[in-house]
Amino acid sequence: MAGTLYVVATPIGNRGDMVPRALEILQNVGVIAAEDTRRSRRLLNHFGIDARLVSYHDHSDDTRSQALLGTLERGDDVALISDAGTPLISDPGFRLVRECQARGYRVSPIPGPCAAVAALSVAGLPSDRFVFEGFLPTRQARRLKLLEGLLDESRTMIFYEAPHRIVETLEDMIAVFGGDRHATLARELTKVYETVIPASLESLHRQVCDDANQQRGEIALVVAGIEQAADVGDGEKKRVLTILLEEMPPNKAAAMAAKLTGGKRNDLYRLALQLGE
Ligand code: SAM
Repeated sequence: MAGTLYVVATPIGNRGDMVPRALEILQNVGVIAAEDTRRSRRLLNHFGIDARLVSYHDHSDDTRSQALLGTLERGDDVALISDAGTPLISDPGFRLVRECQARGYRVSPIPGPCAAVAALSVAGLPSDRFVFEGFLPTRQARRLKLLEGLLDESRTMIFYEAPHRIVETLEDMIAVFGGDRHATLARELTKVYETVIPASLESLHRQVCDDANQQRGEIALVVAGIEQAADVGDGEKKRVLTILLEEMPPNKAAAMAAKLTGGKRNDLYRLALQLGE
């Protein structure tokens, strides 16, 4: 019988978050496939685990994947870990999991830390429906295009961001979503300098620019969806619409007012018609 591929989550900073079942699996598998074997060796040494480590990336050459699949075929179990957190979440593993499933091998999760879920759990934003966007494109034009595609997203959005790009990303988010949109910056979670700042995008941008420490370490950014941002009072919507209706027809005024107030275009269109009566 073929072995099992265990997809094992590891801590995102605090080693105390290593789950007991992960330790048990890592102690007993034949091989551990890791992104960066040197980094993973340090983690394993800390827990006294002396396992065989091989490196694995989704772009690993075929011989490496074949070797792992061969190990499973011979009946030995394999554990997949990433540098930190849950494999496959902005980390390698998808191809290996898919290939194992295509061959009918068992794939089993050992759940544990994940920065996206940890950030969402303390964001103070609706968590009943959310979308994980991972890292934004590094080129500004592509980043803006992606954000524009999320303009009508009503679910809470979770992003990962590199510390040296957080200021630019907040600026692009302000340009697209508006500075009033609620968000939470979750930095260095589970570590000594853990920081969770719930604020508007505008205020987050100011705080991050004023304090260089906020541009360091590992960052997850949780941003409210449009429904939750549409908390502008009716009075303000009416005021904006009244001005716009002097210059343009109701459908255009509603579209522009939606952008200005974060309100829903359909709601604003109905309001525009009422105001015109
Ligand atoms: N697979 C990992 C997981 O489950 O969260 C994510 C791997 S991804 C390559 C690394 C990114 O996750 C970092 O650049 C950062 O955006 C986010 N991240 C990882 N650890 C974090 C932490 N302790 N606090 C905040 N964000 C973190």
